[in-house]
Amino acid sequence: MNRNDIITWLREECSDRLLTLWAQADAIRRAHVGDAVHLRGLLEISNYCRRQCAYCGLRCGNANVQRYRLTREQIITGACQAAENGYGTVVLQSGEDINLTGEMVAEIIVAIKQKTELAITLSLGERSIDDLIVWRQAGADRYLLRFETSDPDLFVAIHPPVAEEYPQRQFLLGELQGMGYEVGSGVMIGIPGQSLGSLADDIIMFSRLNLDMIGVGPYILHPDTPLASQANVPLIADQAPDTVLMTLKVIALTRLMCPDANIPATTALAVLDPQAGYETALQCGANVIMPNVTPVNNRDAYDVYPGKTNVFDAADEFDQRLKQRIRAIGRSVSVGRGDSPHFLASRRSSVQHA
Ligand code: SAM
Repeated sequence: MNRNDIITWLREECSDRLLTLWAQADAIRRAHVGDAVHLRGLLEISNYCRRQCAYCGLRCGNANVQRYRLTREQIITGACQAAENGYGTVVLQSGEDINLTGEMVAEIIVAIKQKTELAITLSLGERSIDDLIVWRQAGADRYLLRFETSDPDLFVAIHPPVAEEYPQRQFLLGELQGMGYEVGSGVMIGIPGQSLGSLADDIIMFSRLNLDMIGVGPYILHPDTPLASQANVPLIADQAPDTVLMTLKVIALTRLMCPDANIPATTALAVLDPQAGYETALQCGANVIMPNVTPVNNRDAYDVYPGKTNVFDAADEFDQRLKQRIRAIGRSVSVGRGDSPHFLASRRSSVQHA
């Protein structure tokens, strides 16, 4: 599929034709990653952030956020909760919190590995090469770092550099691969100023970057961010819409371009469609969901975008209901780590070539 083919699909409005796209993506998903849905326990370990991202409620300029950082014990308890729920992976996510030091995170990784069989995914933003190496050596398995948009001008506009700048996200993704991490990235859909052509470039970039995991979700306006004040500014010609439909198209096209990657049905999509967002994404190419295992008292404060906490109301019941919803559409709940088939295949081929 070339750029024009992708753009044609992104513009497609005929529901019958779109049914053929969903069916193709679903068939490719089944053939390459199977029917099991992998569940990852998402633990939001700190909402401190040194960044000023124009889209994100955690930006350091947002004084309306009550900041928290979980203790070592709370993080280990949260990871054990993920293991008890039967999830094969815990995802430790935070703002770019410099007080979450390399050493502290490494100790936590070691402790979780001693207590559980969980795979550990980190999503801690742009960190130094030294930290990333230390965490991998401590036992971290995977790293998630979205490049947010492949348009370099738009990226800088929404993600301004900070004083002591680490290397750019796309460079870091290559470094992470070299360190042996299973690597994930992704974008937001419908960022003001993002065209359909730019979205097509994002999908092509997923394939070029050789990613193991790809997460895409709609951009959701946060009232306490600079992008909110631009909400009424006329959009560019060919603006990508921040809708459920556009997100499903991007998921399906991503599955066609990257058949053996793990692709989540994201929380942001479930915010826009709480009733059926997870199910429709799973039927358009997705194979992962990330239930929240953050302590209930901290969830509101991890205020990346509005509406997030409504998806996971009544934490304990959510887990059971989610598993029922997965089975109700004829899918199974995965047991085990759920490594990306793309990662396992590239590791096998590098062993053969060694
Ligand atoms: N600080 C880490 C980082 O930047 O990679 C991880 C946490 S960050 C909150 C996780 C993701 O949330 C970002 O990569 C971004 O795509 C998404 N996000 C942030 N603000 C959003 C918004 N307003 N709407 C939708 N997604 C958003």
